[in-house]
Amino acid sequence: MEKMLAGKVALVTGGSRGIGKAIAMLFASQGAAVAFTYQSEQAGKQTEAELKQVTDKVKGYQADATQYEVAKDVVDDVVKTFGRIDVLVNNAGITRDGLLMRMTAQQWDDVMTGNLKSVFNYCQVCSTYMMRQRSGSIINMSSVVGVHGNAGQCNYAASKAGIIGLTQSLAKELGTRGIRANAIAPGFIQTDMTQALSDDVKDKWINEIPLRRAGEPQDIAQVALFLASDMSAYMTGQVLQVDGGKCI
Ligand code: NAP
Repeated sequence: MEKMLAGKVALVTGGSRGIGKAIAMLFASQGAAVAFTYQSEQAGKQTEAELKQVTDKVKGYQADATQYEVAKDVVDDVVKTFGRIDVLVNNAGITRDGLLMRMTAQQWDDVMTGNLKSVFNYCQVCSTYMMRQRSGSIINMSSVVGVHGNAGQCNYAASKAGIIGLTQSLAKELGTRGIRANAIAPGFIQTDMTQALSDDVKDKWINEIPLRRAGEPQDIAQVALFLASDMSAYMTGQVLQVDGGKCI
């Protein structure tokens, strides 16, 4: 059976750890050329080495997703290196949690810039190439928190809800050019991001999940693979909740 992403070129932001790394590894194993970004060198180089065990069509970029000009340089180089860009996964994201009463303007700005402006940056730059190709799949990482809200995460929830509005608008703007845009809204997934939660909080979450387990990065990567592939050719503007059945 042919690999699901044979001949495609994918760019994953925040691909050095967690969900982004699982996506990069799965896409590579399914035949894609994979470019990915990160900020911290150690994890970035480690992931690049692991990807090279799977394919020689790999390139990592130490590149802050919040910087528009940096995003432009990365995407220009991806197209120069691999010839085109078929799939963009906007996965890079951060948390700076706190109740509204105690939240600083800096916490708000960091999350809106890290989670939402970064998505605008890569969508804008990549769509220019995708429009010329008249094809492309954009996958934006939202969260169940962006759909339902969460106490202590008003900045994060707002940024993730913003991603949904951005994605649905792009689907309407770019559909006629053959470009699809969809969002994934993961629930509780075991990564460094959720590692900081206490065992009590984790146990409480898991007890409320109908499938009675936390998600693994691979659970999200498999949905991203579907959205990246031609299996989802007639889907755009959708938000897929991948949360074991828990809707907060
Ligand atoms: P993670 O383990 O903290 O990994 C985040 C990745 O993003 C790392 O590779 C990190 O690299 C990169 N990154 C962060 N800011 C960046 C920036 N400005 N420029 C470039 N790279 C950047 O997080 P995760 O749990 O895998 O989450 C991935 C995405 O899924 C995020 O958007 C998150 O909001 C979303 N999500 C996660 C969960 C969950 O339960 N884990 C649930 C819902 C949604 P560096 O450390 O080098 O910056």
